[in-house]
Amino acid sequence: MQDAVTPRAPLLGIDLGTTNSLIAVWQEGRALLIPNALGDMLTPSVVSVDEDGSMLIGKAARARLTTHPERTVAAFKRYMGSDKRFDLGSHQSFSPEELSALVLGSLKQDAEAWLGCEVREAVISVPAYFSDEQRKRTCFAAELAGLKVQRLINEPTAAAMAYGLHEQKFERTLIFDLGGGTFDVTVLEYALPLIEVHASTGDNFLGGEDFTAALLQACLKEWQLNPAALEPQALASLGDALEQLKCKLGEGPQQLSWNGAGETREWALDETRAQKIWEPLLARLRAPIEQALRDARLRPRDLDSLVLVGGATRMPAVQQMVATLFGRLPYRHLDPDTIVALGAATQAACKAREQAVEELILTDVCPYTLGIATTRGEEISDAFSPIIERNTIIPTSREQRFYSTHPDQKAIRIAVYQGERPWVRDNIFIEEFRVPLPHTGALHALDVRFSYDINGLLEVDVTLASGERHSHSIDRSPTGLDPQACAASHERLAALKIHPRDALPNRTLLARLERAWMQSLGEEREQIRYWLDEFNNVLGGQHPSTIASHRKQLNEALDELRF
Ligand code: ADP
Ligand code: MG
Repeated sequence: MQDAVTPRAPLLGIDLGTTNSLIAVWQEGRALLIPNALGDMLTPSVVSVDEDGSMLIGKAARARLTTHPERTVAAFKRYMGSDKRFDLGSHQSFSPEELSALVLGSLKQDAEAWLGCEVREAVISVPAYFSDEQRKRTCFAAELAGLKVQRLINEPTAAAMAYGLHEQKFERTLIFDLGGGTFDVTVLEYALPLIEVHASTGDNFLGGEDFTAALLQACLKEWQLNPAALEPQALASLGDALEQLKCKLGEGPQQLSWNGAGETREWALDETRAQKIWEPLLARLRAPIEQALRDARLRPRDLDSLVLVGGATRMPAVQQMVATLFGRLPYRHLDPDTIVALGAATQAACKAREQAVEELILTDVCPYTLGIATTRGEEISDAFSPIIERNTIIPTSREQRFYSTHPDQKAIRIAVYQGERPWVRDNIFIEEFRVPLPHTGALHALDVRFSYDINGLLEVDVTLASGERHSHSIDRSPTGLDPQACAASHERLAALKIHPRDALPNRTLLARLERAWMQSLGEEREQIRYWLDEFNNVLGGQHPSTIASHRKQLNEALDELRF
């Protein structure tokens, strides 16, 4: 029931992307995107340390990827769940979840400024193919940002949710979500109010970034340049130029002129050449599609519609590959950049049983098989014994009986793995623990139960014949991380100076001007120098309205020059 005095907490959905992040709110029966301090809906998931030691998040940081690559990081979501650390400047290093927390914190601030109230919780989307560890780390990133995760929702499922509100037909749909760093394929069926996911699969190491990286390799190879011998700034500026070239390819053949490593070089790219360079990547898109269809027991022609999600589906090469594979044109009337955030907010509304969506029922699946290692006599490696098979509807709880191998055995090792290969050595190790066995002189029977919740988090229970139970929710702390490391992360973030939100528009323009100056030559460069000096003067004058009007003009001029 709604309290008449305290306003109800806003219903928020966050798309924490590899490239861009967004926040949306459910208001008056629909999901709405919330703009950031610059008025943009998309906040680049990029973090940089400014010269004065304060953190910059978003568009200003993205411009600094080129001008200050050593003090800036992007695409850290790709490493969520690993121990990789990112160095920013000379004496700061961050984990992927700390960097994600900075992005989440910035979205939270934007929402608070826009809504005029405090924000404490949200539904957050994750790639369907994210593992248990990656999901936990995402929850930890939210916690670091002062946000409670109401629910984790799989990105393609969120897209399906937003899309479900627009379509009233009964249909079998394939969602093809290719973002900056991850690829997800989900096959589902709308029988509104029911949205039923039949199969979900993907590749956590395939995305638009890889297409840019392939162009960079091809270009360096042609110019016979060794990337290790290039200055980081020069390499970053070439990567940036190729990223822009890739995004413009839909408009026709493109020409790159790059000034670095002592000379100006040219590189031409058209669709045919790009497709050749991308052949191995395009081929990798097929396997998950085929698997999702096989698991859903459908043939391509059984699908009623095909939805493209994610910025990288704007690539003509990708669209063409999908059209050929399915023999039809994909459906994409909803903006592929924003649909996931809108769907996450729709899910928040669903949870709160908002009127417009109260009838929607969503069922999702576990995208991979989960099981334990079991010995097979003299085999070199342990076999993988599945307990929850991939594409089982969640939440789910499954139990299987196993036996100890020797009567004198003192303990048994339960090693949990995820994957689709018969030997555990080829699957992803999740966690292991030991269950002590009482001495009875006989073999022990153990019932191993896996419970997988709607957030995609796993709990393991082992029950001995005596009734003795060992419960192991893979983690004890909210994150599965060691409590000391968690406390250190909290401290590190609390000590950071974050660039003030209201100063961001000016700071971002300065960063853009610097990048534009670096990337241009000749007259254009002189023009940008003039703008830089002019804007610094205007800033010195401290008249807010003059600053705002200059800022608007210069941002437009830079947009026009495509910087
Ligand atoms: P994420 O969800 O991972 O943050 P997005 O859905 O925002 O990713 O997609 C980002 C990817 O889309 C980037 O790799 C970017 O290069 C690519 N992209 C965006 N626009 C275009 C375009 N017009 N043409 C080709 N690729 C694009
Ligand atoms: Mg995305």
